[in-house]
Amino acid sequence: MNVLNKLKPKLQSFRFHIALLILCMGIIPSFVIAHLFIYYFEQRSLSSEELAISSQAQLLSNQIVTSGYLQDNSVESVNTQLKALGNIYSGRIMVIDSKMKVVKDTYNMYDGRTIVWQNVIESASGAFRSYYDAQNHCVIVTVPITDPTDTSVIAGVLLVNKTTGSLEQNMEYYRSIGVIIGLISVILSTILALAFSRRYVTPIRKMAQSIEHMNQGLTHQELEVSGYTELQKVAEQFNAYADSMYKVDESRQEFVSNVSHELKTPLTSMKVLADSINSMGDGVPVELYQEFMNDITNEIDRETSIINDLLSLVRMDKSGANLNIAPVNLNELIELILKRLKPIAEKQEVELVMESFRPVTVEIDEVKFSLAISNLIENGIKYNNPGGFVHVSLNADHRYCYIRVEDSGMGIPQESLDFIFDRFYRVDKSHSREIGGTGLGLAITKNAINMHHGEIKVSSVVGEGTTFDVRVPLNYIKPEENPS
Ligand code: ADP
Repeated sequence: MNVLNKLKPKLQSFRFHIALLILCMGIIPSFVIAHLFIYYFEQRSLSSEELAISSQAQLLSNQIVTSGYLQDNSVESVNTQLKALGNIYSGRIMVIDSKMKVVKDTYNMYDGRTIVWQNVIESASGAFRSYYDAQNHCVIVTVPITDPTDTSVIAGVLLVNKTTGSLEQNMEYYRSIGVIIGLISVILSTILALAFSRRYVTPIRKMAQSIEHMNQGLTHQELEVSGYTELQKVAEQFNAYADSMYKVDESRQEFVSNVSHELKTPLTSMKVLADSINSMGDGVPVELYQEFMNDITNEIDRETSIINDLLSLVRMDKSGANLNIAPVNLNELIELILKRLKPIAEKQEVELVMESFRPVTVEIDEVKFSLAISNLIENGIKYNNPGGFVHVSLNADHRYCYIRVEDSGMGIPQESLDFIFDRFYRVDKSHSREIGGTGLGLAITKNAINMHHGEIKVSSVVGEGTTFDVRVPLNYIKPEENPS
């Protein structure tokens, strides 16, 4: 059992299968060919033997008829010939008449007896018959004895039994040649099987080794794209996959370092503020004390909002599969969001305008989708100027709903447009920080829209304003139905 367990991986290996295939391809055909060769030789030798016997028997049969031997078996010349032939063939000759009675048996054992053997009966009807008795090492040929003047008259049958000693010796010789050919083919096939299986498996083995090194973190190098076309494809795909994993790992590391930095900043400020109060001793004026405490509270709020945003982001990252999808009246939802943001807009002296082109019902996760749209509108307010506006419009066709959030704010420089959806990216860090931005809002929005298989696009002109266009399918596409 233990040995079998140890052998199992070897027996299941690609190399073993290739070696086995080569062995089978080498050995089976050579055995078949050797066998066919021996069989062909045997048949050829037998048929030439039979031909020689039958032509000899034919001559004798003519003489038997013309000499009247069938009626009187004492004809000396025929008897001499029968004896001589028997000696040459190291066998036996029988002359049988048309009534199946043995007229002459050179072994003098069957004289006068009746022979009932299929081949003799058939030869009595004019057929030539031959039988190879491998067990007794002889070939038995029966030929009809015909009248030379009228070949349609069959007077009897001549049976010749010839010992096939020399034929068998030859057969033995050829059989041993066959065995030698078989053995040589086994040895050659084994050598070829070992050499080729090694050659075929080497690139796969090298590839596995490189992947193992990559897994152990010994190298970030790409897999070598060499060997067979199929393996090259595997290596290319693997490299692409490893590359994307590498990028994911890099962005994860970057994210962690950004998070640490962002979380540390409010803490550092709080420490500085607290240390300042402490160093001032007992005579700190109440106003100054209150101002510092206010600043500390602001920093705590900031830390809380970063943590809240991070939590939203993480929740979205891992809950792609468990969205709480339900049909939602989008007109009402956007109205509600605007109502909630109205106080902030009024504070900033920004006008909020909503325009609905039709009633829209869409299958979404209400909480996550509200967060996405709120972030866009809130940004429109935050990065705006007093007296400006944020215009939200809602439209739909038979497949999608379209939401546009347009503001008359400061705009985003062209070179920043590609990065605004990245985590912690802010165009103007100090300004964003001043107005309470975390740099996570748009990343959350994009995640939420993606989860609904939607799209978000941005266009902006610095000093004039920014427009975000969102498109989401009206009917939620379940992940397994979504081909992308
Ligand atoms: P934040 O919390 O800093 O607002 P966001 O991810 O929401 O983070 O936005 C990223 C950056 O994109 C912001 O810091 C800001 O510089 C820029 N931005 C986003 N929306 C607007 C907008 N409507 N107008 C101008 N700039 C914007």
